[in-house]
Amino acid sequence: MSTAPEQTLAWMREGTDLFLKALESLDDETLAAPGTLPGWTGRHVVAHVAANADALGNLVHWARTGEETTMYSSLEQRDADIETGSQRPATELRHGMASSAARLAGSLDALTPEQWARHVRTAQGRTVPATEIPWMRSREVMVHAVDLGGVVTFDDLPADFIAALLDDTTARRSVGADGPALELAPTDDDRTWAALGAGHPTTIRGPLAQLTAYVSGRPATGLHADGGTVPTLPRWL
Ligand code: ZN
Repeated sequence: MSTAPEQTLAWMREGTDLFLKALESLDDETLAAPGTLPGWTGRHVVAHVAANADALGNLVHWARTGEETTMYSSLEQRDADIETGSQRPATELRHGMASSAARLAGSLDALTPEQWARHVRTAQGRTVPATEIPWMRSREVMVHAVDLGGVVTFDDLPADFIAALLDDTTARRSVGADGPALELAPTDDDRTWAALGAGHPTTIRGPLAQLTAYVSGRPATGLHADGGTVPTLPRWL
């Protein structure tokens, strides 16, 4: 992801606002109900996104000081913390989301150009410059704003972010290449995207936002596959 941090910081702010808007649209009862992500209620999504802000804050600390601070101590700990976090009182959960997002934004604002260029390691083990942190956060707040199942859908996400997300998801799926080969042909954009994988590529057509939802492993509508059915994809993130 080579987009300038000014752009990804703007997406991060916009995504945070969308997430908070989606969260406000849900009452406490709906938030406690099972959602679209397997095994998770809305409460789990909120606990995860708040913990993600602090985890990315660890990477900001790493970039600022040079002291290696990983996102999570282990993936088991990450999952246990989401479970514990999801059981906090709803008011605390909602407040924790807003305050953790503000803390992360504040720490990123304080980075110098030299610190932005420093390398850190993501939870997936990729080594990336600190400039990637606001992109990682944008992805989390935007996509999980939709996962919450409130008023925000993929159609509400900014078009340039959607295209960048499709760049990212098709690139990742191409590295693993463990799904079917795809060609994605938006009906509302001149560009096409490809994901490497098994077999002859299936061409999928539909609105760009819905193609992006599909490749991100989210429910999508209005998609058509040339000569057949839209293939099911393996899990992404
Ligand atoms: Zn996530």
